[in-house]
Amino acid sequence: MYQLSFSYSFESAHRFTRCESIPCMTPHGHSWRAVLWIQSLHGSLNENDMVTEFQSLKKQWKKFIQQTVDHSFFHHENDPLLPYLNQEIPKFRGLSFPGDPTTEMIATCFLLKAFAMHPKEIQAKPFKIEVFETQTNFVSYTAESPSEIFKNHPKLKSEKQWWNQAEPYSRERFLNSSK
Ligand SMILES: [Zn+2]
Repeated sequence: MYQLSFSYSFESAHRFTRCESIPCMTPHGHSWRAVLWIQSLHGSLNENDMVTEFQSLKKQWKKFIQQTVDHSFFHHENDPLLPYLNQEIPKFRGLSFPGDPTTEMIATCFLLKAFAMHPKEIQAKPFKIEVFETQTNFVSYTAESPSEIFKNHPKLKSEKQWWNQAEPYSRERFLNSSK
């Protein structure tokens, strides 16, 4: 089976609301990298000796990283700092998560986003994501389908959330963060 990946870096901040560690509760940034893996749906190559034309997925994914993820603040959907940030920063670039934005949570939502963006006509599908919080620390997450993810994380099922929508740029994050 062929497996391909594309990797993009981004600079974003996060903080945890439930944590023993003061550095983790303090908003702070990382130089992150997300590596999205896709695998072919069959073992053969197409007439151009490629697995598939996956440029459309790559383009959408790049747009999502650059326009939605980069220079944003990953936050718990109920972070008590949100009302102040929304009041002080017009169109605050927040990316909401249904829990603290740990690297594991980010990887889970990003893989769901890749499934939602995946053009059905290409002969390959996402199956794995690696999210690097630093050059050396990363989380790898693998799932066959969104339903497999929802089985383990029922709170991610909501259709209205950015991770379940196909478009890379979602105004939902503004709506979510202004709750
Ligand atoms: Zn951190």
